Amino acid sequence: MRAPDRLAEIQASVKALKAEVSANAPPTLIAVSKTFPSEAIEPVLAAGHRDFGENRVQEAQSKWPDLKARYLQTRLHLIGPLQTNKVKPALALFDVFHTVDREKLARALAKEWAAIAPEGPDQLSQSKPECFIQVNIGEEAQKAGVPIAEVDDLVGFCRHEIGLNLVGLMCIPPAEEPPAPFFALLGKIAARNQLQRLSMGMSGDYDVATRLGATEIRVGSAIFGQRTAPVQ
Ligand SMILES: *Cc1c(COP(=O)(O)O)cnc(C)c1O
Repeated sequence: MRAPDRLAEIQASVKALKAEVSANAPPTLIAVSKTFPSEAIEPVLAAGHRDFGENRVQEAQSKWPDLKARYLQTRLHLIGPLQTNKVKPALALFDVFHTVDREKLARALAKEWAAIAPEGPDQLSQSKPECFIQVNIGEEAQKAGVPIAEVDDLVGFCRHEIGLNLVGLMCIPPAEEPPAPFFALLGKIAARNQLQRLSMGMSGDYDVATRLGATEIRVGSAIFGQRTAPVQ
């Protein structure tokens, strides 16, 4: 099956799954194109899909300026770790940031955005990039994300001290455990912080995440096939 057909199948299945559990809209399907070349991505764009995820700024710079210029209204999601010295080029290319995990990064995003944003408060709020805080939901030493105990403080900081356009929480549950309890916990933490959106679920568990309230699912290999190039 071709990538656009696999994507259409996943989209139909999450729509049906979502309809079983709630009247809300199905999650946004982010097609994670990391490691795949433009030639693999383009058929999916040509089929009309517009949400894509990449995990490295440098790799995205090699593919997306051209693709975004040719396929208007494409929204690029950064789903990998971001160093503060890459914030400026990242803001030039990405529309949604899923991996805000510390004050320093949040502050750099707000500051660089203010420096490049169009004049005027109205325009500013409209085009401000959407941000998710990444939570280390399994409390794993090697994983990125803010510790659970520090989420509420970071939410407050982003909202009240720097005015970031914070929309929700993101997580990657531990690989070796059933994901459902972790997705449910992320939902709880978001609810107590009045955050509406949950970025959770990948190729192996987007169905579970959809049932538990994901508003964005990030799916790579189930659309594009197995990755052969190294991820980092
Ligand atoms: C690579 C990646 C995905 C997609 O993973 P698949 O298992 O290929 O669907 C989702 N989220 C993040 C943060 C990733 O790095």
